[in-house]
Amino acid sequence: MVSESGEQTEYAERRLASMNDTHPATVSRRFRIFALDPLVTNRVRRTGRDTFGDPVEVRQDNDPHQCRVCLELTEPNEPYLLFSHSPFQGLTPYSERGPLFIHQRDCLHYQDTSSLPPEFPRDIVLRGYDSADAIVAAELSDGDDLEALVERLLGFSRVSYIHARNRTYGCYMYRIEPDQRCDS
Ligand SMILES: [Zn+2]
Repeated sequence: MVSESGEQTEYAERRLASMNDTHPATVSRRFRIFALDPLVTNRVRRTGRDTFGDPVEVRQDNDPHQCRVCLELTEPNEPYLLFSHSPFQGLTPYSERGPLFIHQRDCLHYQDTSSLPPEFPRDIVLRGYDSADAIVAAELSDGDDLEALVERLLGFSRVSYIHARNRTYGCYMYRIEPDQRCDS
């Protein structure tokens, strides 16, 4: 866990409360999943350049790759694009850039925003950021606790959004925000 000192006590209390929670795991409807902005990916596909102006690589192999647009895996021998992207709005010490895959073809932007993408791994890293894009806390999910960890991080007062990243390679997968429709 990474945590700034001001939030450490609150976070520890939330963790303790959760550990004592005897409710069964359920599918959450309290957050929304955001794939890559279609404006970004349409431009990448159209121009062959990433947001930094660098060339996009076209690849093709038998391995399944995580498309950050439809949040599904590529099929064997299906062409895909590899490019660099920063999933942050502005430039801060936390605004990393890194490699991403998307289908080369125009695929459907992820639609079921209230559910975690079923084809993507569940044993992942969750990083919670504040509204200024500074990291507040992070968690490592074993898969079974993923929805609970998402809700816990979003319940943390300073966390505005979460980035989901691959557990070992660390690549950005998708963004998670609180579902404002559930605020009432
Ligand atoms: Zn796709």
